[in-house]
Amino acid sequence: MSYLFGRAALRALLCGPRFPGLLVRPSSGGPSWPQERALVKVKPDGVQRRLVGTVIQRFEMRGFRLVGMKMLQAPESILAEHYHHLKKKPFYPALISYMSSGPVVVMVWEGDNVVRISRVMVGHTDSIKAAPGTIRGDFSVHISRNVIHASDSVEAAQREIQLWFQSSELLN
Ligand code: UDP
Ligand code: MG
Repeated sequence: MSYLFGRAALRALLCGPRFPGLLVRPSSGGPSWPQERALVKVKPDGVQRRLVGTVIQRFEMRGFRLVGMKMLQAPESILAEHYHHLKKKPFYPALISYMSSGPVVVMVWEGDNVVRISRVMVGHTDSIKAAPGTIRGDFSVHISRNVIHASDSVEAAQREIQLWFQSSELLN
């Protein structure tokens, strides 16, 4: 009897609202609203410096879920679209040439407020201003070699995810 009660109690505990991650059937609990997603990209300097694992570890340890990832030599057409808002900047040609100089690793991370939190984790664009503890603050040597990209708004994230991924490449 106490054994049966013990099993029932354990089941109630694991399947109850306090432990949604332990649910056996996903349909029986957990968030029912679409989770926020962000596009994160390890740039060619980050890949060359073997920082992909460090970046993944930081996002995993912060509690986000990886729902898509691939490594590719970025086509110029995608880069032009991605950085279209910077087309008139003097550094634009150098940016496109740097982003084409080697493979990138693009990822989609999911979780509550992932866009705002990942921008904080990534740090300031300019390595001089990037705080220690942020990815750029710990690894970036110059504004033009700043290791990582992260979407700067939910709208930008949606646009960038569609630009870099087919929907069949992402987990639901
Ligand atoms: N960038 C650069 N020189 C600059 C400003 C930006 O090379 O003076 C590059 C840098 O790689 C940066 C990217 O352009 O990450 C996009 O710029 P943005 O202002 O969107 O910064 P981010 O969102 O990446 O922090
Ligand atoms: Mg930006």
